[in-house]
Parts: sequence; C-alpha cells; structure tokens
Amino acid sequence: MDIHTAYLSIGSNMGDREDNLRKAIKILQDNDDIEVTGCANIYETEPVGYDDQPYFLNTCLELKTTLDPYSLLKVCQKIESDLHRVRLIKNGPRTIDLDILLYDDLISDDPILTIPHPRMYERAFVLYPLKDIMDYKGKIPEDKSVKLIDKPYI
Ligand code: AMP
Repeated sequence: MDIHTAYLSIGSNMGDREDNLRKAIKILQDNDDIEVTGCANIYETEPVGYDDQPYFLNTCLELKTTLDPYSLLKVCQKIESDLHRVRLIKNGPRTIDLDILLYDDLISDDPILTIPHPRMYERAFVLYPLKDIMDYKGKIPEDKSVKLIDKPYI
C-alpha cells in the first residue's frame, strides 16, 4: 500500500483549547492508518473572518498515511463531530477545526476537498506553524497577531 504525506492545520477557540488540540492529535495517533510524524509549536492567533470571538490556538501536523484524501477528510470530520464542534456562525467559534492543507503533490479543485487548501497562503495562523515542520519559503501575511505559546506536543 502506498504511503502518503499530508499536512493538517488544527485550531480551537472554545473550551479548553489546548486540551482540544491534544485530544484531536491523540485520535489521529490512535488511527492504525495514520502516523503523526511532525507537530508544530502551538500559537495563539487572532480570529480571521469573524472578529467578535475568542483567540484561537493553532498548530499543524505532518502525517504519513495509507488513506486516500477523501478517507482522510472523513477522519478529520469525525474528529470534529466527536469533539462536539458546533457551527453557529460561519468562521465563528469552534471547539476544533481540522483542515487538510497538502496531500503529496495533489492538486484538487473539488469543493468537497480542495487541495492545497484554498486559503492557506493568506493565513498567518496556518503558515507560522506550517513552517515549523516543513520547508516553506513563501511569504507569510502579518495582518493578524500570531504568538508562540507552547512547545511541540511530540
Ligand atoms: P470549514 O467549516 O471551514 O471546516 O469547512 C468545511 C467544509 O470544507 C467541508 O464541507 C469540506 O468538505 C470542505 N473542504 C474543502 N476543502 C477542504 C480541505 N482541504 N480540508 C478540509 N475541508 C475542506
């Protein structure tokens, strides 16, 4: 079976934010089809899109996986529902948000799964942690505050 490399962005701004990130990482680590091979530092970031909400904690993960991209998306969505993500407002507060940023060299414009993630290059909260775990040489927008708050989990 082929082994693929994927990068995820995870974020939380409700409840115990750090615990939500750690729970999501643990569920991924416990999945037999996934190995978490890299975890960025945790950053506290100013909300983007809808400002009247708490600051987020964000990080990024590198995975090795035998899952195809849509199966990986299902795993991410199940983690969101298991951790009781509620979606009341678009871009509003969430217990946990998982996005697939990159999957090997795949380019997909399917709205169900767009890869590279369509907004990743505009988001400092994605690019700061991503550059901890991969060789990212592009520009990083600086319009919103991103503060390093923690050491990597693994
Ligand atoms: P959001 O509420 O921002 O987490 O967006 C969730 C929706 O985005 C779902 O309907 C997904 O099918 C879709 N989606 C498209 N591309 C991606 C991606 N790269 N990672 C995660 N969700 C995606």
